[in-house]
Amino acid sequence: MSALERGEAAGAAGAEAGPRAAVIGAGFGGLALAIRLQSAGIRTTLIEKRDKPGGRAYVYEDAGFVFDAGPTVITDPTALEALFELSGRRLSDYVELLPVSPFYQLRWEDGFRFDYDNDLEALNRQIAAKSPADVEGYRRFLAYSQEVFREGYEKLGSVPFLDFWSMVRVAPQLMRLQSQRSVYSMVSRFIRDPQLREAFSFHSLLVGGNPFTTSAIYSLIHALERKWGVWFARGGTGALVRALVQLFEELGGELRLSAPVAEISVEGGRARRVTTADGWSGTFDAVASNADVVHTYGTLLGASDAGRKRAESLKRKRFSMSLFVVYFGLKREHPELKHHMVLFGPRYRELLKDIFEGPELAEDFSLYLHAPSVTDPSLAPPGCSAYYVLSPVPHLGTSAVDWAAEGPRYRDRILDYLEARTIPGLREDLVTCRHFTPLDFRDELNAHQGSAFSVEPILTQSAWFRPHNRDAEIPNLYLVGAGTHPGAGIPGVVGSAKATAGLMLEDLAFLSQGRTR
Ligand SMILES: Cc1cc2nc3c(=O)[nH]c(=O)nc-3n(C[C@H](O)[C@H](O)[C@H](O)COP(=O)(O)OP(=O)(O)OC[C@H]3O[C@@H](n4cnc5c(N)ncnc54)[C@H](O)[C@@H]3O)c2cc1C
Repeated sequence: MSALERGEAAGAAGAEAGPRAAVIGAGFGGLALAIRLQSAGIRTTLIEKRDKPGGRAYVYEDAGFVFDAGPTVITDPTALEALFELSGRRLSDYVELLPVSPFYQLRWEDGFRFDYDNDLEALNRQIAAKSPADVEGYRRFLAYSQEVFREGYEKLGSVPFLDFWSMVRVAPQLMRLQSQRSVYSMVSRFIRDPQLREAFSFHSLLVGGNPFTTSAIYSLIHALERKWGVWFARGGTGALVRALVQLFEELGGELRLSAPVAEISVEGGRARRVTTADGWSGTFDAVASNADVVHTYGTLLGASDAGRKRAESLKRKRFSMSLFVVYFGLKREHPELKHHMVLFGPRYRELLKDIFEGPELAEDFSLYLHAPSVTDPSLAPPGCSAYYVLSPVPHLGTSAVDWAAEGPRYRDRILDYLEARTIPGLREDLVTCRHFTPLDFRDELNAHQGSAFSVEPILTQSAWFRPHNRDAEIPNLYLVGAGTHPGAGIPGVVGSAKATAGLMLEDLAFLSQGRTR
């Protein structure tokens, strides 16, 4: 008999009856799933390892500065709004989203700058000044990107691919959209100028994909940004996380922090009990993991042969690169900077090869600089400004860098480069500084190989080829987040929550009728 049938409340005897679900991990995917379940009346417990929710969207507070640890580019706000609308609420009553313009400023070492924005006229003007023939090429690229967006995001972005036939059914569209080509090769079909090719192809890096090997399907990010814009939450992405937590708790959901799950116990072929490292345990009708997929199978389900076997097969997949991130605060403001900046280094294709294949840590780098004080000065003390700068680096499986020793050196090289190129006087104005390495991705987030974005988004690891939203053998075990369909990035993991919630709600309704799959 299931906990649902017994009306048993895990860890809280006497609570009201009804199906119970556990969601392990409070990243954006876990939070979005927990909200969907709780909104549908499923009593949901969200269990998070760290002391704060958010996962990759953790927040550091140092010396009066607030640093978002991870996601900063908020796209497709409608996917977030939908979570509030499920219970008749409005996102805007919880957190304010501020438009960011330009979306990004791109800078190259030779001095060329490109303000990547939603203003078509301004975009065309900049393209024409650089390479007149590419204005028409850009028009055709945008049309392509919009078509992929309709097929790949709007139609399939939150649909679970559980069987091979679901893949076969979409194969004709994938062929027509030339998904076997890479993002860069597709952009190059339309655009000739080498720097403009970089400007319109780097986006797949935002979800952990190398533009030279990731499917052209990921060109849809361009259309997605153009459709809904780029936003920033007032107070930082952390404020958005707090809004989601508030919503979940108002709905009656339970959040357990500083509670690393040690085991998911399988009884009678079903996931039953979730036990944390400090000995707490609860019984559930359905269990979803937002934690890393290798960690989920290898550690949480590691007591079973099936779990360990599945983990071994997942380890054979290619995992996205890692990131090296430096969070720093300055005792000066820099209004001349843009909120999101990409500083391209001297090499593109070759650098990406080094990042994705290793084994050496490249001497040069391309950096993403986050300067949120430009949009929201409240993130730093008066007269000061907050930043993070990130450099994509090989994950722990492709490179043997000793990050404990190399970290401080690499941080200094990045800060020197930034000072020389973008922020004069940086060193002298430095008030606070911390960094996060691939080892931290592994140890803090349980990320396999310290990957920043989980399973690499290449065609042969997408949709049905990605770990499924519902396990094939344990019928009440589910995945949500970057490692499952559709993949990384906030819109991706929030889409995965929709796909997973659909399956869970259907299965739990089935169970309520006394039936199991
Ligand atoms: C530096 C950086 C910048 C990024 N920038 C952007 C951006 O600007 N825009 C964008 O859309 N995307 C961005 N991304 C990608 C995006 O942040 C991620 O893809 C997304 O947030 C991942 O969400 P997730 O739901 O998969 O879970 P995660 O955020 O990975 O959270 C998983 C959670 O599971 C927890 N966990 C792990 N093991 C256990 C356990 N045993 N028990 C309990 N809990 C456990 C972890 O502590 C973590 O909280 C960025 C990523 C990084 C790293």
